[in-house]
Amino acid sequence: MTDNQELHPSDTHPQPRLLIVTDLDGTLLDHHSYSFSAALPALARAAAAAIPVIPNTSKTRAELLALRRALGNDDPFVVENGSAICLPAAFRPQLDSTRSDSDGLIELRLGVELERIHTVLAPLRERFDFSCFSDWTLEELIAHTGLSPAAAQAARERRYSEALLWRDDAGARASFIARLDSAGLHALQGGRFLSVLGAEADKGRALQRLRELYRQRWGSVPCVIALGDSGNDVAMLEAADIAVVIANPHHPPPTVAAPEVIYSRQPGPAGWNETIQALLDRLGVPG
Ligand SMILES: [Mg+2]
Repeated sequence: MTDNQELHPSDTHPQPRLLIVTDLDGTLLDHHSYSFSAALPALARAAAAAIPVIPNTSKTRAELLALRRALGNDDPFVVENGSAICLPAAFRPQLDSTRSDSDGLIELRLGVELERIHTVLAPLRERFDFSCFSDWTLEELIAHTGLSPAAAQAARERRYSEALLWRDDAGARASFIARLDSAGLHALQGGRFLSVLGAEADKGRALQRLRELYRQRWGSVPCVIALGDSGNDVAMLEAADIAVVIANPHHPPPTVAAPEVIYSRQPGPAGWNETIQALLDRLGVPG
């Protein structure tokens, strides 16, 4: 080895490959308009550098299929708050499963089927006051969420979680959540709705599973950047190597303990663009 090489330890210890895992609403998507246009420069830079951008969201698979077409993204994605990871067929060598669905994706389930959730919720309706997405007509769902008819239809296609509107007081809410815990479920507050899902389903576990899948695929452990704006992102942010908390004018930033935590100045996709561009600069990714 020459002196010159000794001056460049990165030659013998190359930088780990990057993986970006991101929340959608209020993070990559604008809180009000659901637009991601302000993040397009950073998204294009990540795509040019072959850095996967993996949505990790409370949204359903049907919602994600529409969104990734709009984004031009064909990376894996995580749905229903960590309930399932949807993987392109290229991941088949890393999976035991040989089965893909009609859209060519392989789904790795971490949560529980919706039927099981409904079985637990049914007797709780007598004691607590709440209503669920699945109770509502499409028109009611549109009125509650402000979604377009097509988006509301996609939001209804839940398989592993129920979103509910809590109408009872905070004390009742705590005892409701304790009941869910003892039935192997848990609840997450995301925006206006309380999501009820399997206890094993969380955005942080999904991130860990993705890190392992990419480790097998790439032959080295990736460096994971995660971005989120809310309390339901904390498990994901804390499982990352670099956590990016996107500012949200509607609530204070969540408290996050990760090896590195960065707070964006701007909210939503503008904050996404600002922080990812700065990180890619720092990590030597071509601009
Ligand atoms: Mg969010």
